[in-house]
Amino acid sequence: MDKIKIAIQKSGRLYDDSVKLLKDCGIDLKNGVNKLKAECDNFPMEIYFLRDDDIPQYVEDAVADIGIVGENVFYEKKKKAEIVEQLGFGKCRLSVAVGRSEQYDGVDFLHGKKIATTYPVLVQQFLDKNSIKAEIHEISGSVEIAPGIGLADAIVDLVSSGSTLFMNGLKEVETVLKSQAVLIRNEQLGARQQQLLEKFLFRIRAVKKARNNKYVLLNAPNDKLPEIIRLLPGMKSPTVLPLAEAGWSSVHSVLSENDFWDIIEQLKDAGAQGILVVPIEKMVI
Ligand code: ATP
Ligand code: MG
Repeated sequence: MDKIKIAIQKSGRLYDDSVKLLKDCGIDLKNGVNKLKAECDNFPMEIYFLRDDDIPQYVEDAVADIGIVGENVFYEKKKKAEIVEQLGFGKCRLSVAVGRSEQYDGVDFLHGKKIATTYPVLVQQFLDKNSIKAEIHEISGSVEIAPGIGLADAIVDLVSSGSTLFMNGLKEVETVLKSQAVLIRNEQLGARQQQLLEKFLFRIRAVKKARNNKYVLLNAPNDKLPEIIRLLPGMKSPTVLPLAEAGWSSVHSVLSENDFWDIIEQLKDAGAQGILVVPIEKMVI
């Protein structure tokens, strides 16, 4: 096989971001009518669309060479595969929640309780780590209604905003796992697949870097330049170009998303004007 086979979620919360990542990596999917498998013209890759729960198994069995799946599913399934990269989307946490009126004062609350979840392996690990004996009820969906119908005293489920818990009269009390989408790989890739994975990873990293950074252009009076340059890290050091108007310069640099607002404010205070912020498409260092 001359191509690398990747498994991604067929539909659901990871689908859009997984397809977008491929597109941003310059991989154009030829979308067939039946969405089971897609090919692409400009990268030797074949894309399989699967239930997320099945992806770790397919990667272990080398039906797919690599896959995109939530860490929550990856650690729950305990399949033989390796995480190669965190992808920065699909962020959520696996949390313990109890009825809002319960008096919760620590994990010991869970002793002897019934816990409903779709993640029995991760919950058991969490209980063992905290030396708690509790009964796990594995259910396949709608976990959040279990306490309300008397099926369980607590639940362990995925949370992002917490609004589902709130609507069901529950409160979040512990985090079992923080999760995001990851790229996983089969443990024994052939030389060709290994080479293609490295090519793909190189692109993923450039896309991730670009997403985390912005290109900033601003004008500054020359006497303010030293202070402004000190505020701008840039990839090496900022680019400074003279403006047509004497005594002024244009300064270009790259800022990380994390400290972006902080630095923009400081730049303004230091005398920067006409600040432009532009998204970066790819970034290779
Ligand atoms: P499938 O049909 O593929 O089995 P699913 O219903 O099991 O899909 P989704 O609800 O689409 O799964 O979620 C897929 C993944 O998205 C989760 O395993 C998790 O990693 C991530 N995710 C991010 N935020 C949330 C959230 N608020 N709730 C549930 N999953 C989330
Ligand atoms: Mg699933």
